Amino acid sequence: MYNVKSLDANEFIDDGEVLASIEEGRKLAKKKDIVYGLLTKARDCKGLTHREVAVLLEVDDDEILEEMFKIAKEVKEKIYGKRIVLFAPLYLSNYCVNNCKYCGYKCSNKISRHQLTQEELREEVRALEAMGHKRLLLEAGEDDEKCSIDYILECIKTIYNEKFEKGAIRRVNVDIAATTVENYRKLKEAGIGTYILFQETYHKPTYLEMHSGPKRNYEWHTEAMDRAMQGGIDDVGIGPLFGLYDYRYETVALLMHVEHLEAVYGVGPHTISFPRLLPAEGVDYKSFPYLVNDRDFKKVVAVIRLAVPYTGLILSTRETPQFRRELLDIGISQMSAGSSVGVGGYAKRKKDAEKCIEETPQFNLADHRKPLDVVKGLVKDGYIPSYCTACYRLGRTGDRFMALAKSGQIANCCLPNALLTFEEYLADYADEELKEMGRDLIDREIQNVPNQKARARALDYLNRIRNGERDLRL
Ligand code: SF4
Ligand code: SF4
Repeated sequence: MYNVKSLDANEFIDDGEVLASIEEGRKLAKKKDIVYGLLTKARDCKGLTHREVAVLLEVDDDEILEEMFKIAKEVKEKIYGKRIVLFAPLYLSNYCVNNCKYCGYKCSNKISRHQLTQEELREEVRALEAMGHKRLLLEAGEDDEKCSIDYILECIKTIYNEKFEKGAIRRVNVDIAATTVENYRKLKEAGIGTYILFQETYHKPTYLEMHSGPKRNYEWHTEAMDRAMQGGIDDVGIGPLFGLYDYRYETVALLMHVEHLEAVYGVGPHTISFPRLLPAEGVDYKSFPYLVNDRDFKKVVAVIRLAVPYTGLILSTRETPQFRRELLDIGISQMSAGSSVGVGGYAKRKKDAEKCIEETPQFNLADHRKPLDVVKGLVKDGYIPSYCTACYRLGRTGDRFMALAKSGQIANCCLPNALLTFEEYLADYADEELKEMGRDLIDREIQNVPNQKARARALDYLNRIRNGERDLRL
C-alpha cells in the first residue's frame, strides 16, 4: 500500500502506485491541454509530482518535446545560471563481494583487483589536483573485510590532509555500499559532502534478478538514504542505472523517492545522477532488453529537471562529448571531467605503465577528453566551468541549501563562486588559449551577479585572486 511517509521501501516505492501512475499518464498524455498545462506549471519552477511526471514521460510528439527541452533549459538557467560544476570520480578499491550482472567489477569477473594504499591514494590525489580538481567522488566496491568503513574514513582523512602549492581537494563526496546509521554518522563526522548511492533499479523483481551477494537486499538498499539522513547526512544523491528496467517505471519511482525524503526529512536529494547502462568487461550489455535510446534519455533528463528544479543533476563520462552537450542544454548542472574509472588510473596515466597497477574500468567511457579540453568545450558552448565547493564548507547543506535554492537566492552564490573558482583554475592550470577565453567570460559575467552587494564582494574577491590569494568564496 502506497505511503509516502512509510519507512518501508515497499510502501514509499509502492509497485501498484508506480504502475497506476504510468497507466494514468498514458491516458492523460493524449490530451494536449493537460500536457501544456503541466509545462506551464513547470516553467514557474514549481516542480512536478510523480503522477505529473508520468504524463510527460509519455510525450512522443516532436514539437511538444522541443517545447519541453526549451522549458527545461529555462528552468535550469533560472535557478543555477550557466555554471556547470566539475568533479572527478576516484576509485579506491575494486574488490567486490557482489555479482551485479551489469558491472565490470562483479566478483565472478577474473580481473586484477587492487585497493589503493594511502601512499597510492596520495599519488592519485596529486594527479587529480594537478588537473585542477577540487571536488572528488570516492568510489569503492563492496567488501567489508578488505574495504572496511575504517579504510574509507582513513582515505577521506588522507585526502583532506593533502595540501599542495596551488590548492587542495576541498570537498569529498562518497559513493559506497549501503551501510548502517552508525557508519553514516562516521562519514558525516569525517566531513563528507554528499553521500551518493545509485539505486540501480526501483523495480524489485529486476533488482533481485540483477544482484547476488549482500547487495541483493532491496529494502536495505532502497532505505539507505533514510539511514543516511538519520545519521546526520543531509545532502544525499540518488539515481537509477537507466537500462536495467523500463525508464518510465524508474523515473516515476525516482520521483516517489524524492517525495518520500521530502515528506519525512523535509529535504529532497541534493543530486540525482544519470548513469546509463553501457558496455563493461564481461558484461553482454546487448542482452539487457530495456536499454534507453538517446531520444528517450534526453526526455527523461528534461522531465526530471522540470520535476525537481532545485536538485543538481549529474552526468558521468559515460556519454559522448556531443551528447553531453545536448544534455547540458536541457538540465544537467554537474559533470565529471577527465575521469578514470579504474583503481589507480590517474597516477597510471602519468607513469610508465609497466611499473604500475593495472587499470580495469568499471565500465567503458565515451568521453576521453582531458579536463582542460572539457573546460574549453564548456566555455565555447557558453557555460561557466565551476570548481565551487562553497555551500557545504559554509554549512549551507540540507534544508538551508534548499531554502536558498527555492527562493532563487542561490544564483548570488553559484555565479560568483563559479567565476572565482574558474579564475583560480585559469591562473593555476590553464594554457594561454583558455586564459584568454576565460578572462573575457569572467569579466563579462561578473556584471550579471543579481545582488549588488554580492556583485561588489565578488569583484573584490576576483581582484584578490588575481593578486595571488586563493579560496575566497561567497
Ligand atoms: Fe560491486 Fe558495485 Fe559493481 Fe555491484 S555495482 S559488482 S556492488 S562494484
Ligand atoms: Fe554548488 Fe553552492 Fe557552489 Fe552553487 S554555490 S555551485 S550550489 S556549492
